[in-house]
Amino acid sequence: MTAVTHYFKNVVDSVKTTLIGLGITGKYLLQKPITVQYPDERLPIPNRYRGIHYLEQEKCIDCLACARACPIDCIEMDAVRHGKELEWISFTLDYQKCMFCELCVYPCPKDCIHMGTEFAFVSYDRSEFVHDLLSYRGMARDAKVRMVEAEKKKKAKEEAKKAKEGAQAAVVAEAADDEGEEASSEDA
Ligand code: SF4
Ligand code: SF4
Repeated sequence: MTAVTHYFKNVVDSVKTTLIGLGITGKYLLQKPITVQYPDERLPIPNRYRGIHYLEQEKCIDCLACARACPIDCIEMDAVRHGKELEWISFTLDYQKCMFCELCVYPCPKDCIHMGTEFAFVSYDRSEFVHDLLSYRGMARDAKVRMVEAEKKKKAKEEAKKAKEGAQAAVVAEAADDEGEEASSEDA
């Protein structure tokens, strides 16, 4: 092939490939765009997607089943028990370690820890990957009310018990007095 033929072959190839490319562009130009403008737009996420966890704190009983089930110990929790009620201090999940396996979700007896559909997780600070799943610290308002009610009931029960014991002691003392009086009248 001479240099001139080679030159014209290159020109023909360039025009041909440009037209093929423009043909593909033209085909998509008439179609609805499929590009999603993330993060302003998002594709629908399936319900069973294993995203960032969320906790239904009111239902949680601090049983540690989720933490024990986690193969890499990412879950830690701390709460103080007041009878049946819980005062929450922390419930953290370390996403530097989490592998999104969902093994923490299945053993929960109250079905209160879930994996959501949120996945965006960007930070320059590693400490931000330790998430506290609590929606409130301390005690829930309802729990406080229940605790006060329970304490009142307990106090009333204790007072009733004391009063009963006092009454029984008085009856025994009276009976002892009566026996003593009878004995002294018989002696006389
Ligand atoms: S998803 Fe898996 S690794 Fe992450 S906290 Fe749950 S059990 Fe642990
Ligand atoms: S297993 Fe469920 S109820 Fe138990 S501590 Fe974990 S989230 Fe709470």
